[in-house]
Amino acid sequence: MASGIRFSTKLIHGHGFFDEATGAFIPPIYQTAIFEQPDRRTGETRLTDRGTELKYSREENPTVRALERTLAALEEADDALAFSSGMAAISTTYVALLKRGSRLVVPAQAYGTTIQLATELTKFGVKIAKVWPSTDSIIEAVRTGDVVLVETITNPTLRVIDVPAVAKRCREVGATLVVDNTFASPVIYRPLADGADLVIESLTKYIAGHNDVVGGCIAGPSESIAQLWEWRRRMGSIAHPFDAFLTLRGLKTLEVRFERQSRTALEIAEFLEDHPLVEEVMYPGLSSSPYKELADRMFIKKLYGGVVSFKVKGGRSKALRVLSRVHVIRPSPSLGGTESLLTYPVISAAKTIPEEDRKKLGITEGLLRLSVGLEDPEDLKEDLATALS
Ligand code: PLP
Repeated sequence: MASGIRFSTKLIHGHGFFDEATGAFIPPIYQTAIFEQPDRRTGETRLTDRGTELKYSREENPTVRALERTLAALEEADDALAFSSGMAAISTTYVALLKRGSRLVVPAQAYGTTIQLATELTKFGVKIAKVWPSTDSIIEAVRTGDVVLVETITNPTLRVIDVPAVAKRCREVGATLVVDNTFASPVIYRPLADGADLVIESLTKYIAGHNDVVGGCIAGPSESIAQLWEWRRRMGSIAHPFDAFLTLRGLKTLEVRFERQSRTALEIAEFLEDHPLVEEVMYPGLSSSPYKELADRMFIKKLYGGVVSFKVKGGRSKALRVLSRVHVIRPSPSLGGTESLLTYPVISAAKTIPEEDRKKLGITEGLLRLSVGLEDPEDLKEDLATALS
């Protein structure tokens, strides 16, 4: 069903669920840990559509499977796996792909816990190459046999990485490229089509989209997904049926939400650029952004997402003051949902990045990260103007 239909239609019908017995075509919540084994009619264990056994919800669950079929269609992948969080997807990927002596290349600017967990893997004999978060530095660092993890748009200063160029280098030398596409989402970017080996998304953000679910996913070729499936089963990191249901429901509006959030974000980025108390604005859609040209080459639809980072004049005390004075916008460390959120990276996503690295990366005491939701853009601008004044 999913092949031959377009992105917007995949969001609605990509799961392909249909219950012959009842005629239901909205995937229900299979809130069950267990399934009959063997099937008393046939004497065999029931199988899912990908041939795995359906007997226990730590391995397979039909609601989770419906979500996975949709995600695979959206990412233009053979198959996908849903996880209990973005970090569950990332940790399962690390465990599946790395062994003693492997080398993991990760930019020094990525989601803090992604870097922190990578650093902890050294205790199992994995070598970590933490590199400057630019396309050239990443390409230069890649060697044969490496696992390379990059974010399409980096957290929190919104650098855009040239994924096609990194993928080309990884192919040439025989390295595995994993792309965390959370900040872009499949609405504007599909890394597998540009040569990445696996794509990860934190479903918590744009895909579920309503700030009420924590989840993650990995999509890629069937053989890789089969290997990761075994690790997910062993690590117990599968998504829960209710969360899968909410995510399926939320993602139907992913494209319309993302379009509106991107348009409002650009409006707010331009407003902040003109504000006398703002030192610098980072948003790949701004004509002043050093990443605009690359973003226009890579991203579909000339949309750049709903996250805008900016530095206020006056450092920590001013940033904390802005955080405490926003009213419509809520101070909270996430992104991509319907509510606009303001995050102070030095105490949240970048807290675990060493201070010395933070300084070099421009994650200063005055840096704030705004995730634009679906409120009226005028209310958001007024809220920011009052908080900044
Ligand atoms: N990747 C990125 C880019 C993130 O920003 C986050 C969380 O903020 C994660 C992964 C982790 O996702 P989760 O919070 O769903 O575990």
